[in-house]
Amino acid sequence: MNGKIAVIGAGVAGLACARELLHAGHDVVLYEKGGGPGGRAATRRTDTAGFDHGAQYFVVRDPAFAEYLAGPLRTGAVGVWRPRWPADTREQAPLHVGVPGMNALGRALAGGLDVIHSTEIVDLERDADGWRLHDSLDSLNQRHAAVVLAIPAPQAVPLLAGYPALAARLAGVSFSPCWAAMAEFEEPLPVELDADWRPDPVLPWLARNASKPRRGSADAWVLHAGTEWSVAHLEADPEAVAAALVARLPERLAQVVAVPAKLPPLVASRAHRWRYARVETPLGEDCLWHPELALGACGDWCIGARVEAAFLSGRALGLAMAGTLAGR
Ligand SMILES: Cc1cc2nc3c(=O)[nH]c(=O)nc-3n(C[C@H](O)[C@H](O)[C@H](O)COP(=O)(O)OP(=O)(O)OC[C@H]3O[C@@H](n4cnc5c(N)ncnc54)[C@H](O)[C@@H]3O)c2cc1C
Repeated sequence: MNGKIAVIGAGVAGLACARELLHAGHDVVLYEKGGGPGGRAATRRTDTAGFDHGAQYFVVRDPAFAEYLAGPLRTGAVGVWRPRWPADTREQAPLHVGVPGMNALGRALAGGLDVIHSTEIVDLERDADGWRLHDSLDSLNQRHAAVVLAIPAPQAVPLLAGYPALAARLAGVSFSPCWAAMAEFEEPLPVELDADWRPDPVLPWLARNASKPRRGSADAWVLHAGTEWSVAHLEADPEAVAAALVARLPERLAQVVAVPAKLPPLVASRAHRWRYARVETPLGEDCLWHPELALGACGDWCIGARVEAAFLSGRALGLAMAGTLAGR
């Protein structure tokens, strides 16, 4: 079969897969429904502030991920975050973040790759000439030698309607949602704290985004709701969600630090719903690759709910495909 290899989804997994394929000499193109690369390793910007509203930081344990990150660490696209975070719950390993926003990791991974943005793939078709991808406008005409699904498993299942055995494997993977609120205050909140996690049912995670490297001076906070709360409010109005999570902040801060009676005024708040935020039941394999169909799948959902897992899954699929497709 002729044509480029198509990777659907330019999150960390899709980008890591595409990089391996490019490195092995294959032509590869990524289709991404969003406006930029990075997926859930994301940054939302307003006129005055930036918010890492998805992944907060990433920990590096695997040598292959460490080897890749040496470059972005050198160029400054990735740095280390040193928040004031209470010792009883703080992560012990170094906390890596994209700089100046978490999405810098995706941009670094996308370097040299052909990423077609704002293109959602809604259907796949395969015939003797290869794979044809359909976007919502049906504007794509190229054939592809192979296809990679690098999107959350529940979103990949509908694209696999013609491949029930593969779809059944993915159907066993489950995700939980997460509501994220982004709040900017007129002045820095006068509390000796930049991050905290604890099992609060409403607001387990809070982070002063501005304490990350090169985030600017606005006192921007990211608040992540608990899983059960997010499920219960899944279809709620985003404004109401933002208001509820911001209202909880003083009480939540007071669980760990002294909080003044009056906090600085809020400039603005908003909320984002991550419908597929965290993998609850992973596949338990690095990736899926079906050489006869020239169809693969990767993502954090193969291994676990972490940026590093997404990278390793994508890389594993890229290596498996490069090995199989080399002789074609
Ligand atoms: C709220 C939250 C907090 C988190 N905190 C952390 C943390 O602190 N540390 C950590 O390590 N991890 C964290 N994670 C998890 C981490 O973000 C993910 O594990 C990782 O980013 C997943 O990467 P991925 O490439 O597998 O998937 P994704 O990032 O989801 O990438 C999939 C991409 O595919 C695109 N897409 C989907 N469907 C289509 C389609 N049909 N056509 C075209 N494109 C499509 C999407 O727009 C997206 O860009 C968090 C995630 C969330 C949501």
